[in-house]
Amino acid sequence: EKKLLMHVGPVNILDRVLYAGLKNNVGFTSQEFVEAFQFSLKKTRELFQADNTYQPFLIPGGGTSAMESVTSLLKEGEKVLVVTNGVFGDRWINIFRKYPVKVNVLSAEPGYYVEPETVEKEVKKDKYTLVTFTHVETSTGVRQPIKDSVKAVRDYVDLVVVDGVSSVGAEEVKAKDWRVDVYLTASQKALGVPPGLGILVLSERAMERLKDEKSIAGYYLDLRNWLPVMNSMENGKASYFSTPPVHTILMLSEALKIIIDEEGLESRIKRHEKVASAIRAGIEGMGLEIVAKKPEAYSNTVTGVVVKKVNAGNVLSEIVSEGVELAPGVHPKLQGKYFRIGHMGWVTENDAIVTIASIERVLNKLGEEIRLGEGIKATQLYLAK
Ligand code: PMP
Repeated sequence: EKKLLMHVGPVNILDRVLYAGLKNNVGFTSQEFVEAFQFSLKKTRELFQADNTYQPFLIPGGGTSAMESVTSLLKEGEKVLVVTNGVFGDRWINIFRKYPVKVNVLSAEPGYYVEPETVEKEVKKDKYTLVTFTHVETSTGVRQPIKDSVKAVRDYVDLVVVDGVSSVGAEEVKAKDWRVDVYLTASQKALGVPPGLGILVLSERAMERLKDEKSIAGYYLDLRNWLPVMNSMENGKASYFSTPPVHTILMLSEALKIIIDEEGLESRIKRHEKVASAIRAGIEGMGLEIVAKKPEAYSNTVTGVVVKKVNAGNVLSEIVSEGVELAPGVHPKLQGKYFRIGHMGWVTENDAIVTIASIERVLNKLGEEIRLGEGIKATQLYLAK
């Protein structure tokens, strides 16, 4: 059955991408797979606006495996700074606390981000090996001003890591120009591929750290074990450390062909921006509040919507019968008070119309006080501009 998945990943997937993975006879040593892997590695550099000095990695798992693999760059006793605006920023704390490193945290209230100046002050005060940022905090839809944030810390720490799980493929990302050491994402978000892959690029400085035999990393997510596979695949030769998600990589390869060679990164980012703005126009038009507190913090991929009278959970179950699936609010401080609209991947202007119209009907039915019809009008007017 047809359903519009305005979720935070997986999202609706193009038939062409899905069909690329519908193969019954592709082994991990086959030429077809090696070529898809090789192509994906090369296109991954472009995706992150990195160059040949950056090493791309495709590893099994997703955003979390990519995050945890960053432990490959740390040694016992080193100190890390986590800059967090919500649940996924906090995930770095949960990861690092499993390892013998010191963790310090700067956090913002839901709807806000930690100001770059605040981070700058902290890294000047203390010696940190590594600092983490979350480009778009999926739990609230808040976008960190990442260029300025990286700039504020760049000269004071060894390694700058950015979680781009909800940004890569939908927001401006410039790994090289901003001198980010590790930029990471996952397959199921703005790339519009099924889940299964963590995707990273590492700077020369980050790669230098992999030469050291010692790190706090475990076995499966130690990037030292994955590096020979990446090198071999990029040179067109099969290699094995642990079985890769073959079919997801076939689909990623097709998606990257569309994203970079056909749609173009710039057009893709513009499309995301337009659809996101049209959706927010609709939300404000019907008289609802957005979780992100200032327009600079609005993201191209996720919008949190605050409800006053109705339970956010009821909105989600009710709207499914309208053919639309949205994402629950997951920030513990706003439990039951908001839901999220994911607008990423292959999302279209018409998807914005359908989403806003369905939200209006459902909220009206459930008894939330909204200006019925004004949301869809605002969306339409925005798109017609
Ligand atoms: N970081 C961010 C910003 C995310 O949105 C997510 C997933 N929602 C993750 C990390 C974790 O990714 P995964 O669920 O693929 O492990």
